[in-house]
Amino acid sequence: MKAFQYLRPSKVQDAIRAVGSDPGARFIAGGTNLIDLMKRGIVSPDKLVDINHLPLKKISYQSGRLKIGALALNSEVAAHPAVLQKQPLLAQALHSGASGQLRNMATMGGNALQRTRCPYFYDTAFPCNKRKPGSGCAAVEGINRMHSIFGVEKANATQSCIAVHPSDMSVALAALDAEVIIQGQGGERRIAFTDLHRLPGNQPELDTTLERNELITGFEIPDNDFGMHAHYLKVRDRASFAFAIVSVAAALDVKEGKINAARLAMGGVAHKPWRLFEAERHLLGKPVSEALFRQAAALGMRDAVSFGQNDYKLRMAPNAVVQALLHAAAIE
Ligand code: SF4
Repeated sequence: MKAFQYLRPSKVQDAIRAVGSDPGARFIAGGTNLIDLMKRGIVSPDKLVDINHLPLKKISYQSGRLKIGALALNSEVAAHPAVLQKQPLLAQALHSGASGQLRNMATMGGNALQRTRCPYFYDTAFPCNKRKPGSGCAAVEGINRMHSIFGVEKANATQSCIAVHPSDMSVALAALDAEVIIQGQGGERRIAFTDLHRLPGNQPELDTTLERNELITGFEIPDNDFGMHAHYLKVRDRASFAFAIVSVAAALDVKEGKINAARLAMGGVAHKPWRLFEAERHLLGKPVSEALFRQAAALGMRDAVSFGQNDYKLRMAPNAVVQALLHAAAIE
């Protein structure tokens, strides 16, 4: 591993200044992904700014909003009483991710910003537009059973990236209309969680809409009426410590048998958590039924494309949506 400078600031603005406009500087928190990337030579920072001593660990509930600091650990958030009471979908998604040991190290901000696990991204012998822009995408004609079915045009795929965003937590935050609080040199800004990650387009090297020296300081989730009518369904190769092949975060507000509000997001299917807005709209005002859920799932799949080994996702994904909705509605 290349030698690097190590800094450990205790104030947010000092950390942001330390990264500044230096292209070789990186923030590090739990390090559960970045250290792997450094060991393999995928990322070689010359300066690491350790943010673990910044005051960003608080979890609280105030004025109808659940507020979670970017450095709160995944395991702490998943077990926090306010999270379990107000946003149980987030707790479910966090529990389904990684392993107990990793959840004890991984932070909320780091979880959202983890890189894809496409094997070609980690293997420097293969072309990869995300690792080396313009080099091509080995996955389009290669091993792509874990890869995306949304957000990339087939004709453009070899110039782009068909990798998926790997976080379960991000799928729940996208479904729950969470906001991301971001601090930069010019001050604070807030964006919808659904605007944090981006589709690859012709810049697949960029995973998010963050500027280089911007730091996520926290997340906020507004109250909703979903209560326990929320379910995170994760399909994976083994029962634990495996990334999603397909996952679904489903939440329903059901009043007098009719759907008053619905949220649906998928993981393992795109370069970003994939919100199913059209399917959500289709559910509104209608009585709960499996037939309705199948219609919504079919609407959600309209723009899907596959690349050979991941053809099975075109059938698995809508079935997963239906199962998640049945669980959320408690009529499975
Ligand atoms: Fe690289 Fe993306 Fe292609 Fe994987 S899918 S090889 S990360 S460009």
